[in-house]
Amino acid sequence: MPEHIEGQFAFDFDEMAREEARARLDEWGGAPLGFTRDYFPPAQLDEAFEHWKFLNGSMGSWKRSHMWHREGWNGTGTEFGGHRGEIFEAELGPEDGHEGPGGMLEQMICEPCEWHVIGDENSVIEQWHDHAVPGWRDLPVLPATIRVRDGGSSLSKLAMKWITERYPQHMQVPGAPIITERGPYGTRHVHHYSPWGGYDLSHTALERPAAPQVPSRAPRRELPPFVPASQPGQSSPAGRALSQ
Ligand SMILES: [Zn+2]
Repeated sequence: MPEHIEGQFAFDFDEMAREEARARLDEWGGAPLGFTRDYFPPAQLDEAFEHWKFLNGSMGSWKRSHMWHREGWNGTGTEFGGHRGEIFEAELGPEDGHEGPGGMLEQMICEPCEWHVIGDENSVIEQWHDHAVPGWRDLPVLPATIRVRDGGSSLSKLAMKWITERYPQHMQVPGAPIITERGPYGTRHVHHYSPWGGYDLSHTALERPAAPQVPSRAPRRELPPFVPASQPGQSSPAGRALSQ
C-alpha cells in the first residue's frame, strides 16, 4: 500500500536524522542540553529543549531532561515599559521509579536587559516586578471583601471600579499588575489576570521585603525609567492618598 510505504520512508528519515544529530552532539552550539543556572535568551532555551526532545523523545521530557521549559498557559510573557518577563520551569526531581532529591525551580528572564533570576515561583515573579515595574509595591491592595471575579478570568464590575478609581493612571497600562488580598491557600501570582494583561499578585508579596536587585548583564543597554504615556491633567491623585 502506497500510504504505508510513504509512512515507512518518513519514519526512517526521522530516525536517520536523529542518529545523525546524536553523532554530532559535540557540535551543538546552543544552550546546554540539561539544567543550567547560566543566562540564556528565551529562544535559545526553547531551541535547546526542542533539540533534546528530538534526540530523546518528548515523553516525560520535563523530568528526564531537567531542562528549562515553558508551561503553556504562561504564553509569551509580560511586557511593561520596554521590559519583557518570561517564566520558565525546571523539574529537578528524579525520573519516575527512582529515588532522590527533587524540586521545582522557576526562572524569570527579561531578555531586553539580559536579566534573569532563579528561585521559587512567587519570588522570581516579585523580583521581576522589582526590576521592571518600579513602584508596584505601593499599589493599593484590593481587599478580600470585594469579589474579584465572577467565575471567569475577567474582573467583576465592582473590582474594576475599585481599581480604576484608586490605581495611578500610569499603572493602568498594558502589562501592569494589580495586587489582591488572598486567603491562606490562594497565594500564587496569576499571569494575565490584571485588567491590563499583567499579573494578579497576591498581597503576600508585600510581606517579604524586596530582594537585593539582580544586576542586568547588559548595563550599556539598561533601559531608561518607565515614562507613562498618559496626558497631563488626566491622572487622578494616587490611590494611596485617596484611601487613607
Ligand atoms: Zn528588564
